[in-house]
Amino acid sequence: METKIFLCEEDMPRRWYNVLADLPTPLDPPLHPATGKPVGPDDLRVIFPMELIKQEMSPDRYIDIPGEVLDVLRLWRPSPLYRARRLEKALKTPARIYYKWEGVSPPGSHKPNTSVPQVYYNMKEGIERIATETGAGQWGSALAFATMLFGLQATIYMVRSSYAQKPYRKSMMQVWGAECIPSPSTKTNSGRAILEKSPDTPGSLGIAISEAVEDAATHDNTNYSLGSVLNHVCLHQSVIGLEAREQLASVEEYPDVVIGCVGGGSNFAGISFPFAGDKLTGKHPATDIIGVEPASCPTLTKGLFTYDYGDVAGLTPLLKMYTLGHDFVPPSIHAGGLRYHGDSPIVSRLVHDGVIRAMSYHQSEVFEAAQTFARTEGIIVAPETSHAVKSVIDEALKCRQSGEAKTILFNCSGHGNFDMSAYDAFYAKTLVDYEYPEQLIRESLSRVPKVG
Ligand SMILES: *Cc1c(COP(=O)(O)O)cnc(C)c1O
Repeated sequence: METKIFLCEEDMPRRWYNVLADLPTPLDPPLHPATGKPVGPDDLRVIFPMELIKQEMSPDRYIDIPGEVLDVLRLWRPSPLYRARRLEKALKTPARIYYKWEGVSPPGSHKPNTSVPQVYYNMKEGIERIATETGAGQWGSALAFATMLFGLQATIYMVRSSYAQKPYRKSMMQVWGAECIPSPSTKTNSGRAILEKSPDTPGSLGIAISEAVEDAATHDNTNYSLGSVLNHVCLHQSVIGLEAREQLASVEEYPDVVIGCVGGGSNFAGISFPFAGDKLTGKHPATDIIGVEPASCPTLTKGLFTYDYGDVAGLTPLLKMYTLGHDFVPPSIHAGGLRYHGDSPIVSRLVHDGVIRAMSYHQSEVFEAAQTFARTEGIIVAPETSHAVKSVIDEALKCRQSGEAKTILFNCSGHGNFDMSAYDAFYAKTLVDYEYPEQLIRESLSRVPKVG
């Protein structure tokens, strides 16, 4: 009757799993923002190292994890898998609930699973500085952690509303030696253009990405790094699901339901792609795989599946994905890491093809769920993670109704120890449940570029 299921260090995955190899037809290629033609490796070399460009387009099912990367991942990996017995009991559910706990990394989330290899490959190719954006600050702190380990500098454009709401994330970046700038800033053309139009903007990931890409593209020694969305990020996160599958197998389990929250899709990809692969290849065809997003930024549930820019200024390649329009600025909810207009092209494709499904919840109901989790399992989860928790609780309650003893696995993507102001707002009853901003989304969708 174990509560924590560990893997030993020797059983840590040595290869990443690439779900692209198991898609029935290839992914639609990214397109050049100016020409509308598929981008080639040369287009991306201005801002990415060659090794990551190769991984982005690789057809290989498995890709070896470099030894120096494994050495760093071992600081916290393999991460524990927990059986949520106290939560099960509180819900009086016959379901068995397991969670993969990614909050054990030094920055406190799944994000260093990719910041570490990304910085490593940049270091190998002689890059001295990384520019990036951060929403709630988790990615910025994960990148600062990785650049510190490999001796690079970091410039981090942090979405302004989070810069104000989450001061301690910024402090972490400073401890690890990175520079953190509120976005939009006056440092870049894209930032200045936005500030001129809307001086009071709360900022958005899309704006911050424009600033970081511009910074990287205009400095030779600097590359850009993205914490989510792209195929190579999903690839690096596959260690989560690979470990979880091993850990579950060691107690003779395989999940009926796999759940993760979705911002750009990376932690969800990490927990779910190995299981999506099993589903696509017919090994486990019936797994119910659920991505959970905020109702105020409902990319997968209300967006269009079409080509759009990854950023506001239209500097990034066009990606075929679910999008709310690249200039949509989501309401300032506390789950800053889920405020993104687009989504991973692979996650989008799998939703479109019906391999996985998506749902959305409002802020107050997810904080209610996070409170239930904290009062049973003890962990105070990040506001992003609380979306997954809410869905898990709903699935478990359905099992109580039906009497089914399903095995539910979810990714507990990070801790909320620096998000206590959000919990304070929940208790002060000042959390706003933003209505689905239908008009704004309709307007921004009308500005999605026409392709083909
Ligand atoms: C960044 C973040 C997310 C959302 O990003 P994804 O790329 O969708 O995973 C979710 N949870 C935590 C704890 C995060 O830091």
